[in-house]
Amino acid sequence: MSNPFFRIEMLPAKHGDALWIEYGTPDNLRRILIDGGPINAWPEVSARLQQLPPGDTGVELAVISHVDTDHIEGLVRLMAEPFKRWLVKPEEIWFNGWRHIGEAKNLGGREGEFLSALIVQRAPSRWNKRFGGKAVCTGKLADDRVELAVGMRLTLVSPNAASLAALEKDWRSSVKKWAIMPGDLEAAWAQLVDENKFHPDAELTLGPGDLTADLLSQLKGRDSGAANGSSIAFLAEFGGKSCLFLADAHAGVVCETLRDHGYTKDKPLKVDAMKIAHHGSRNNITPELLELVDAKHFLVSSNGDKFGHPDSAAIEAVILGSRRKPTLWFNYLSDHNAKWKAESLKPGARFRTKYPAKGKSGIVVTL
Ligand SMILES: [Zn+2]
Repeated sequence: MSNPFFRIEMLPAKHGDALWIEYGTPDNLRRILIDGGPINAWPEVSARLQQLPPGDTGVELAVISHVDTDHIEGLVRLMAEPFKRWLVKPEEIWFNGWRHIGEAKNLGGREGEFLSALIVQRAPSRWNKRFGGKAVCTGKLADDRVELAVGMRLTLVSPNAASLAALEKDWRSSVKKWAIMPGDLEAAWAQLVDENKFHPDAELTLGPGDLTADLLSQLKGRDSGAANGSSIAFLAEFGGKSCLFLADAHAGVVCETLRDHGYTKDKPLKVDAMKIAHHGSRNNITPELLELVDAKHFLVSSNGDKFGHPDSAAIEAVILGSRRKPTLWFNYLSDHNAKWKAESLKPGARFRTKYPAKGKSGIVVTL
């Protein structure tokens, strides 16, 4: 293969994730989309998708890692359009909905029901295709491996059956507030029709409704722990380069899978890059993870809003726990994360940093 490339764009998804991956060769470019950010980042995230050449909407795979709003809302918005108007048309869509939770004793939330209703309406045959329409979950495919076009190899590291099962309770309590029965896609559709933020042009035809500020505030209320644990996370390898995309996965689940695949402290998984889980929350990085993964580049997706991510403790852990002098990539330069820029420029600094140019947001990492 001549001149393979593997490029990751951390789009400006505010406090969430939206990762645009391009790989292939100069005459055979392929794409993967992981998550779509929260709804208030959609104008910026969708602006990137609108830069595609006219008529070129091809994407190998779209992954909705889990149901939290900072990952899922943008793609609910995208898929609320009729299929022919989707900005990108993924060959395959990975997302674990209620039917998959229930399957593994299983998954959480109202936006999850919205997305499920949309996929069933718009592109049912593309849903979790490699998994026979069942849950995207470790332990199902040989070596947890999937091969995409042109030789991109993915190895799933999360979720496992237990982390999917743990989501069931949260999912039930989330949808209960909205009087939807888990898995009732007709009820979800009817409510989605009233959610103007996902389809400003009334394309869902059941008639517009008004969402009160009170309702909107309730959208933020659930405990995200189990949802994060259900994250679809994977290793992507192409052209001799690799990145571990961790979404908001729990370190324990990822470490368990990595150990199952034979990685140890003495024989770690060596990757070029790791998208740090949960926007650099200190709750998602453990010493064990840093032992099992030997990365050079660490990617942090967050503007610091809402939860003050990344946590200083997580960044410190990365700097101190890395086997190689790490480079930290941020998709925003904010008052919150600028301190690492200053530190990295000091003589003898143990790490490097990369930020968007002044006044810009989003960053491209070429492996
Ligand atoms: Zn998140």
